[in-house]
Amino acid sequence: MSRIAYVNGRYVRHADAAVSIDDRAFLFADGIYEVIEIFGGRLIDEAGHLERLVRSARELRLALPVGDGALRVIIRELVARNRVASGHVYLQVTRGSARRDHAFPKPGTPSTLVAFAHSADHEAAEARARKGIKVISLPDIRWKRPDIKSTSLLPNVLAKQQAKEAGAYEAWLVDDQGFVTEGSSSNAWIVDSRGVLITRRADSSILRGITRMRLFEVVKAGNGAIEERAFTLAEAKAAREAFITGATTLVMPVVALDGEKIGDGAPGPISLALRKAFHDFAPASY
Ligand code: PMP
Repeated sequence: MSRIAYVNGRYVRHADAAVSIDDRAFLFADGIYEVIEIFGGRLIDEAGHLERLVRSARELRLALPVGDGALRVIIRELVARNRVASGHVYLQVTRGSARRDHAFPKPGTPSTLVAFAHSADHEAAEARARKGIKVISLPDIRWKRPDIKSTSLLPNVLAKQQAKEAGAYEAWLVDDQGFVTEGSSSNAWIVDSRGVLITRRADSSILRGITRMRLFEVVKAGNGAIEERAFTLAEAKAAREAFITGATTLVMPVVALDGEKIGDGAPGPISLALRKAFHDFAPASY
């Protein structure tokens, strides 16, 4: 079965899907995106992701080419046509295609909308969670608006590659004051000696993760406590547990930071329990 992608109103074979070399995302990374998890054939927190897409578009003065209803139809078509039971849908909107010039193209230039869906190995992810992941720390060299989910991801790409070359799965980015902002493609959490969960407040310095937001409800339902504040690497190294969250990783336990064990060096019970409970809380739609 060939994979099917969506490009500007058409469903095409993935191998034939293409946009112009004049596309603003190709030339300037002038675009936004979303990644939605598919679990058990259902879309997890679709509304949260689509709301964030609308917000990213507004912040960058980018017009979405289709409305919410059409986006939902496209997403479902891709899930169905690609027979994805477990995986992700990727949506990207760019400021369209125009002769290269930094300033916006002339009004009325149509935005580009590209979307595709792919399956993910659910069992491999569960195995990774049982083992836990290693994280390294790096300076956060991104621009001052990582709250916008833009395709301008070079610092994130470089950080992830450096993590990979160091034998780690993720890089935690550290601001100029020595506080962790977030991961290169995930939000960062620790659990202190009292069992309190600590994660940075979602201001303009981090992406307001949909998984992060949903986890607040999971924690509250279990009468757990959360402190929304920045934490240092020293605090993280002294933490009882640590984990990351994201639509592709869900709750993923962190067992080492810069080569130092977190807790006893095994995935923590709170992290694993939150991972297990997550899908019971997240809204899921067919
Ligand atoms: N921060 C960054 C930088 C990310 O790329 C992601 C993944 N999109 C997240 C946090 C987690 O966001 P979400 O839970 O919405 O996937």
